[in-house]
Amino acid sequence: MKSHRMYVNGQWVEAASGRTRDLPNPATEEPVARVPDAGREDMRAAILAARRAFDEGPWPRTTPAGRARVLERFADALERRKEEFRRILVAAHGAEAMTHPIQLDTPVALLRNYAELARRFPFEETLPVREARDPLGGAALVTSLVNRQPAGVCGLIPTWNFPLFVTVQKIGPALATGCTFVIKPSPFGPLVDLMLAEIAEECEIPPGVFNVVCGEGPELGMELTESPLVDKISFTGAVSTGKRIMQSCAHTLKRVHLELGGKSAMIVLDDWDLDSAGPIAAAPTYFHAGQGCAITTRVLVNRERHDALVERMAGFVRNLVKVGDPADPSVFCGPLIRAERRAAVLEYIESGREQGAELVIGGGRPEGLERGWFVEPTIFAHVKNDMRIAREEIFGPVVSVIPFEDEEDAVRIANDSSMGLSGGILTRDTARALTLARRLRTGTVMINGANDIVHTPFGGFKESGIGRESGIFGLHEFTETQAITWRS
Ligand code: NAD
Repeated sequence: MKSHRMYVNGQWVEAASGRTRDLPNPATEEPVARVPDAGREDMRAAILAARRAFDEGPWPRTTPAGRARVLERFADALERRKEEFRRILVAAHGAEAMTHPIQLDTPVALLRNYAELARRFPFEETLPVREARDPLGGAALVTSLVNRQPAGVCGLIPTWNFPLFVTVQKIGPALATGCTFVIKPSPFGPLVDLMLAEIAEECEIPPGVFNVVCGEGPELGMELTESPLVDKISFTGAVSTGKRIMQSCAHTLKRVHLELGGKSAMIVLDDWDLDSAGPIAAAPTYFHAGQGCAITTRVLVNRERHDALVERMAGFVRNLVKVGDPADPSVFCGPLIRAERRAAVLEYIESGREQGAELVIGGGRPEGLERGWFVEPTIFAHVKNDMRIAREEIFGPVVSVIPFEDEEDAVRIANDSSMGLSGGILTRDTARALTLARRLRTGTVMINGANDIVHTPFGGFKESGIGRESGIFGLHEFTETQAITWRS
């Protein structure tokens, strides 16, 4: 089993306390790697290094074209080491083969796009010359320049479910704009971030720009959110943690970018054939075992077609969804990340039963899998939108089917949620879908499964977050806008 070190100020270091911990494989419960278990003093050292690198180092003053070249080298290295990343994703994150395109290929595409954007982003923009009055009443011609500076020292707190994707969504724009940062990986999965630090070193990114500090406890993240030396936090994780982070950041009025959970709805309109709707609607029960923020875990279908859709979803799951260790590429549904997450999901399933939803398939631990934190793919039918399984993010292989009366009712149910991350519509009628999509209070809407996560803004309405990632929208998040005005 390999032991890893952290990357601080261009050096590979142990935790100051010397503490380490072992990471388990969620499918086998066997240890896969040993990593440092850092504390606040390690985090303080990394923050100081990032601060110095920002205030005194060359990185924020490099040209956008220079930073673009570094991002391209980064993307090349990531592509070269894809198989190493794949092994980590399977062994430490339970990533099934079906998730690998987004886990591995999309991050490379994102980095290449951030490189391109760095070249053409309007870091400086001159506004039209205007006539203005000076305080003594004279007239003057005033020119204004909008200067988009890097946001500064950033605390990046990604999650573990799509770890490479989520971290790249933060380091890509941070590097493109000239920020320096400390990554605080999820305690469930720092290996990806440590490997990214190896690439940062290989790409000769100056010391202090790119730091990774990993440990078990929340105090590491809290040190980042509390520190007056940090300018911005970019966080991906649970709504409840996002709220705590925002409160903590309020003391120093840090910029806060939050990518949080969802309870997204898939609306199946009456012109879409049920045979193809079944597998699509059942996706939350198998795609990364439902551990995805934007997965459509509420399926809305008109009452007359409800039972027929449920039958097709269940048939697909029963016949085609294999549960097991994702090291087997034919596995559709892998494990949950930890035993406590499995316990929480099973508790949600129990609440669905108690509140009167109809359990169609699944509902417990799969037979024959004694090791690993598995839950059976589970479908609930005739769910009411006020049940807990319809209101709270379960983050497990559980989907709720909710009948609606008409399109108006579907919109009402879809929007009746404290969250607003994503949504889906299945229909052959694009005009009808667009009208419907405009009424949904969610950050993204995927019509017939279409998406472009490299270029379009990604983020949430309501409690699903603040700010947007991806494309040029992601770059704006990592800048501070300054106006410089002069008279000639
Ligand atoms: P989590 O909120 O439990 O933990 C996320 C991170 O926050 C961890 O690194 C943790 O150590 C840290 N943390 C905990 N308390 C903290 C504090 N007080 N201050 C600073 N940091 C603290 O979430 P998770 O289990 O890692 O991730 C699952 C959640 O992530 C789900 O809700 C999912 O929907 C969401 N998610 C959102 C997106 C998105 O882009 N919107 C993407 C993926 C996952």
